[in-house]
Amino acid sequence: MIDSSIIAIDGFASTGKSTLAKMLAKHYKYRYVDSGAMYRGITYAALHNKWMTSEGLEESKLLEGLKSINLNFEAIANSLLLNGINVSKEIRTLEVSNNVSKIATLPLVRDFLVKQQREMGKRKKIVMDGRDIGSVVFPDAAHKFFFTAHPEVRAKRRLEELKLGDPSVDFDSVLKNLIQRDTMDSQREVAPLKIAKNAIEIDVSDLSVSEVFTLLTEKIES
Ligand code: C5P
Repeated sequence: MIDSSIIAIDGFASTGKSTLAKMLAKHYKYRYVDSGAMYRGITYAALHNKWMTSEGLEESKLLEGLKSINLNFEAIANSLLLNGINVSKEIRTLEVSNNVSKIATLPLVRDFLVKQQREMGKRKKIVMDGRDIGSVVFPDAAHKFFFTAHPEVRAKRRLEELKLGDPSVDFDSVLKNLIQRDTMDSQREVAPLKIAKNAIEIDVSDLSVSEVFTLLTEKIES
């Protein structure tokens, strides 16, 4: 058993981080936070308020806009509230996915969110998933995991999720988005996606959800 610690799950897009993080949170009665939803929330706000258009991003507008943004991640309902409005569906569109990594490269956005994430971790007992949780947000986390999987396996997974909301999405655009995001996330200057010190790397390509869950709980409790 673990009493009070932080569990960080990082890794490539659509490797099942959120699913497993949620399962662990339920199992250990911890709080679950999807940090990717927070980056998506800012991206949605930037698109919706036209701080970001096909012409590009207006950083000054974004900086000003962030002052009026209040994000709340409600773990039980798995919903993201943007200024009190539930935007859980809106943040999962391909439009948001295609722009989120650009927003996530900006130090002003990362500072804004990392501060909130650390605040959430103050009382420990938290499972957070993302890209920089074990490396930047909680470098002292007791348990750190890093998920990888073959791109095709991940695209198939994400396609199944997206199809529930929009039957017209196709495999190739989902795969292209995943590869683009992974490249941008890994190559950015601030808090790039990389294996954190002491993190355990797991290739989930050929593992079922319950196999990964067993593996994680064994590592956590050993
Ligand atoms: O986890 P998800 O795939 O929803 O994350 C969306 C995007 O948010 C990532 O591709 C990445 O650009 C950004 N992100 C990040 N740091 C985190 C979590 C997500 O840069 N901790």
